[in-house]
Amino acid sequence: MAGKSLQSIRGIHDGLPDEVRKWRRVESAARRIFGTFACSEVRLPVLEPTELFVRSIGEETDIVSKEMYCFVDQGEDHICLRPEGTAGAVRAYLQAGLTRSGAQRWFYIGPMFRRERPQKGRLRQFQQIGMELFGASGPIEDAEVLAMAQAFLTELGIAGLRLEINSLGCPECRPGYRDRLVEYLNARADRLCETCNDRITKNPMRVLDCKVASCQAALTDAPEMVGHLCDACDVHFTGLKAGLDALAVPYQLNARIVRGLDYYNRTAFEFVTDQLGAQGTVLAGGRYDGLVESLGGPATPAIGFAAGLERLAMLLEDDEAAGIDVAVVALGAESINYSLTQASGLRAAGLSVVHCGGGAAKRQFKMADREAARFVAVIGGDEMAAGKVALKNMASGEQQTLTLAEVIRAVSA
Ligand code: ATP
Ligand code: MG
Repeated sequence: MAGKSLQSIRGIHDGLPDEVRKWRRVESAARRIFGTFACSEVRLPVLEPTELFVRSIGEETDIVSKEMYCFVDQGEDHICLRPEGTAGAVRAYLQAGLTRSGAQRWFYIGPMFRRERPQKGRLRQFQQIGMELFGASGPIEDAEVLAMAQAFLTELGIAGLRLEINSLGCPECRPGYRDRLVEYLNARADRLCETCNDRITKNPMRVLDCKVASCQAALTDAPEMVGHLCDACDVHFTGLKAGLDALAVPYQLNARIVRGLDYYNRTAFEFVTDQLGAQGTVLAGGRYDGLVESLGGPATPAIGFAAGLERLAMLLEDDEAAGIDVAVVALGAESINYSLTQASGLRAAGLSVVHCGGGAAKRQFKMADREAARFVAVIGGDEMAAGKVALKNMASGEQQTLTLAEVIRAVSA
C-alpha cells in the first residue's frame, strides 16, 4: 500500500530551478566583487563540535540557548549543525596555523541551521554568504569591508537598502556603559516584555534591539554605547566614518544595533531593507577582536559579515529561464545515430541542447514545443544523406537546411 507522501521539515525549503537561478546570480556577484577585494573562498564543514559555538557565540544568546541543532553521534561526540560561519572560520584559521601568515581574507557560501520559528525570510536551513578578515585592526579596513558589502549589494542591483552602523565599544568601556544601561532598564522593568526582563541580567544590550513595540517605546532615551566610548574606541569609530565618507558609502547611525552574538566589539553594522517586513536585515556583521584569543589563539583582530542568500534572492527580479537553444528531432530510426552526433557537435560549441529521443514525430515536436527551444533541428534520411540539418527558427518560423557549422553560427548569432 502506498504511504502518505513525505514533506520536508518545516522551515526547510527545496531549491528548485527558478530559485537556484537567483541564488547563482547572488553567488556570482559575491565571487566577482569579493575577488576584487582579494578575498579567497573557503569551504568549511557543516558539522562542528557543539562546544565551538557555546564558547564563541555565548550561552545566553538565542542561537546557543534555543536554536542549535545538536546531537550526540555514535561515538558519543557532541556535534552541531553550524548556525553561523564565523566560529568555524576561526577554528579553521587556528587549526591551519595561519596566525603568523599575515592578514587572511576569506569568504564562504553555504548552509546554516537554526531552529527558529519559520516565517517569511526566516528559515531553519538557510544559506549565508559571508566574509572574515583576520589580522587587521584599523578603521580603514572596517571601511573597506563595508564598502565591499556595499559593492556586492550594488552589483545585485538591489535598491532601497540602507547601511546602519554602530560601535559596541570594547572590554574597556563596555562594562561601565552596561552598568548604566542595567540601571536604566531596571527602572523600567515593568514596561519591558518578559524576555527583556530576563535579558537585563543575562544580556542587557540585547534589550535594545527587542522587536516588541512596548519595549521600544520604553527605551526612547536609553543611554547609548556611542556616548560612552573610551578614547581608543572613539578614535576608531571616527576613523570608520571618515573612511566611509571618503569612499562615498552612505550610512546612518543606529545606536540600537547590538548584534545577537557575544563576540562583537567596536564596529557593528547592518544593511537593511523595508521590503521584507520584520526580517529586513539582509547583511550584518562587525568586528570581533577577542574571538580568536578566546578560542585559544593569539590576540588577533578580525572583522566579518554574513548575508542571507534567500533574503537577497527575494529582492531580485525574476529572471528568464536560461532557455534551451536547440531541440533535436530525429525522423526515422536510421537517422538516430547521426542526430545524436549532431546534438553532440552543438553541445561541444557550448549550446544547450535536448534530444527529443526519436520515435513518433508528433511526440517529438510536442516535446520540442514544451521545452520552448529557440530552434528545432529536424534530421531525417534526406538531411543525413546530405550531411546537414533542417533548422527552424521558432520565433520567425524561418527554415533552412544547413551544415553543423552553419547551424552553430545561426544559433549563436
Ligand atoms: P535576525 O535579526 O534576522 O534574526 P541575526 O542577527 O540572527 O538576524 P545573523 O546571525 O547576523 O542574523 O546572520 C546574518 C544574516 O543571515 C541575516 O542578516 C539574515 O539575512 C540571514 N539570516 C539569519 N537568520 C536567518 C534565518 N533563520 N533564515 C534566513 N536568513 C537568516
Ligand atoms: Mg536571529
